[in-house]
Amino acid sequence: MTVTIVEAGAPVLRQRATEVAPEAIATPAFAELVAAMTAAMRGAPGVGLAAPQIGVGQRVIVLEDRAELIARLTAEERRERERAPFPLQVIVNPQLRTIGDERTVFFEGCLSVPGYVALVERHREVEVTGLDAQGAALAWRVRGWPARILQHEVDHLDGILYVDRMITKSFVTEAQARARFAGRPIAEIRGLLGL
Ligand code: ZN
Repeated sequence: MTVTIVEAGAPVLRQRATEVAPEAIATPAFAELVAAMTAAMRGAPGVGLAAPQIGVGQRVIVLEDRAELIARLTAEERRERERAPFPLQVIVNPQLRTIGDERTVFFEGCLSVPGYVALVERHREVEVTGLDAQGAALAWRVRGWPARILQHEVDHLDGILYVDRMITKSFVTEAQARARFAGRPIAEIRGLLGL
C-alpha cells in the first residue's frame, strides 16, 4: 500500500477533521486506514501521524516512538525531553486534557512541513481519551515527549500546524538544526538563536 503524505498548502490540513462514527471502527475500511497511516509514519520515519496528513479528514491519529529513533539522541537529550520508546497507539476521536501548568520548549518538526523544525512550547503533561482501533474506550496519561506528540497530532485534527504555535525566530532548516544544535542543552540553543 503506497500512501502520500500531504504537505502544507493542502486544504485538508487546514480544515477541522470530522468525528468517526463508532460503527465505522472495526471495519475493513477502517483497518486499512490505520494500516496506511502506520506505514506512512514508519516509512517517513516519524513518531506520529494524523489522518489529514494522508488526505483523510477524519479524527484518527497514530503514535509510536521506537528505540532506533531515540538512539540518535544523547542520554542527556533523552532525559531533557523525557523521551522513551512506547508501542503503537491508535486513537480515534481523541480529546485532550492538559494537566498542570508546566510547559516545555523543544524543537518539533512535521512530516507535512518537510525540511524544517522550530521550537514549540507545549504542556508537559496531558491526558487523552478516545477510542482505540477496536472501538473500545481508552485513556492515556503521559508526560514529556509522548505528551508533545499528542498535542501536535490533535492539533492536526483541528487544522492547526506547529508553525502556528512556533517561536518564529527558531524556525530553521533540519540540516542546520542537526549541524548546530544536536547534543546541546535547550538553554544553550535558545542563546544561539537570540531568544
Ligand atoms: Zn505534523
